[in-house]
Amino acid sequence: MYGSRDTGASKAAFPRWSVGTIQFNFIAFANSSTMTKTPDFSGIPTYSGPPKEAEIQSRLRAVAELGVFRHALPQHLGGLGDNFAELVKTHRNLGLASRDPGLMLAINAHLWGSVFPILLYGSEAQKEKFLPQLLSGQWLGGHAITEPSCGSDVQAMTTVASPLGEGYVLNGEKRYISNVPLADWLVIYAKLEGKISAFLVSRDDEGCQFSHEGALAACRGSATGSVSLKDCRIDADRLLGKVGAGAQMIQKALEYERAFVFAGIAGIMDWQLAEVVRYSRERRSGGVHLGKHQAISHRISDMKLRLDTIDLWLGECARLCDAGQRITLASAQTKLYAAEAFLQSSLDAVQIMGAAGLESGSLMAELVQDAMGGRLFSGSSEVQKNLIAALLGTGDAYRPNPQAN
Ligand SMILES: Cc1cc2nc3c(=O)[nH]c(=O)nc-3n(C[C@H](O)[C@H](O)[C@H](O)COP(=O)(O)OP(=O)(O)OC[C@H]3O[C@@H](n4cnc5c(N)ncnc54)[C@H](O)[C@@H]3O)c2cc1C
Repeated sequence: MYGSRDTGASKAAFPRWSVGTIQFNFIAFANSSTMTKTPDFSGIPTYSGPPKEAEIQSRLRAVAELGVFRHALPQHLGGLGDNFAELVKTHRNLGLASRDPGLMLAINAHLWGSVFPILLYGSEAQKEKFLPQLLSGQWLGGHAITEPSCGSDVQAMTTVASPLGEGYVLNGEKRYISNVPLADWLVIYAKLEGKISAFLVSRDDEGCQFSHEGALAACRGSATGSVSLKDCRIDADRLLGKVGAGAQMIQKALEYERAFVFAGIAGIMDWQLAEVVRYSRERRSGGVHLGKHQAISHRISDMKLRLDTIDLWLGECARLCDAGQRITLASAQTKLYAAEAFLQSSLDAVQIMGAAGLESGSLMAELVQDAMGGRLFSGSSEVQKNLIAALLGTGDAYRPNPQAN
């Protein structure tokens, strides 16, 4: 059976993580109570085409060993006790080293989809049970919001939870879920008494099935799949947060995800820019190097400006989080800007490199597809615009206050 970890949800004995295939250099943090040096990612293989699931798993295991899941989390729960600025720095370095948007997406789904919701909304017993395993990488998590019939319109979800005895029974389908089918646990959102609520669901729960259905041709360094819930029975202690708090929990999780999901991708864009500069100096056309042509050099200037602007936005989100301030507006602005910038710079990189950028197996070409995914995951660019306009008090998402009349 694939996914050889014990989720503790069933009595069946599953072996622990299989030994990873990756050799990586240890950095100095002996345990979570000591502060880290910057992790050394030189042992993480750079992306060289869609990995097999065992490789995806072993890569995630390796980055977990290097402490990547522990940033901005309190020490008494196994975190590093550092801040969001450190998280951004680590993710950016990992992106630069791995050149793998899929790996970065998988990490973000794990963190914002399961670790932080449990930290923010979990009972003490839930924190104790889940956080050590999720922070160490023993368990892989994620969150399931999207369904075959609804994505942007979260309120249209049809997955339902019904009270049954001391617990609940879940029925429905989730689609395009990062880390499925590898994940051990997911935070799954379903309607209970007509209101969205959150539930902790294990891959081993009876009536729950993770599959490859709906796997995507973007961010292929991660797994994406579907969840089928057919009379899936769970105990009462699997409710996460309060009944009906799910919509607010989704909003909070996505705020973090939108703020930081591009931190690793900024590292990849750093590599992308360096490659294009190198190519423009080596390739000659009309007796001069490519970069001598203004049509090329201006594209490169634009790529640099976009990258630096993303870094400024990431820094602003980290600053706000570290100061304990809300990031609703800043995270939507960051996600919108970074997603569009990543796509434009990926198109520019391929254009500058000509057919060489489109060679089969070229990472430059694959980044274009990944960037298309970037405009959809964590809420599409259109949804970010709706949100920004609504926060300004206008636009499609603005609803007049019925009390005002
Ligand atoms: C790589 C990847 C990973 C993902 N991982 C996860 C995950 O881990 N968990 C999860 O739950 N989901 C995940 N998703 C799904 C993602 O959240 C959805 O793709 C996204 O919410 C958009 O929903 P949709 O694809 O169903 O498009 P739809 O909602 O059907 O929208 C189709 C188009 O219409 C536009 N549109 C829709 N409504 C409006 C509106 N009100 N105003 C203006 N334009 C609108 C959209 O912007 C889009 O362009 C992932 C997606 C991708 C690509």
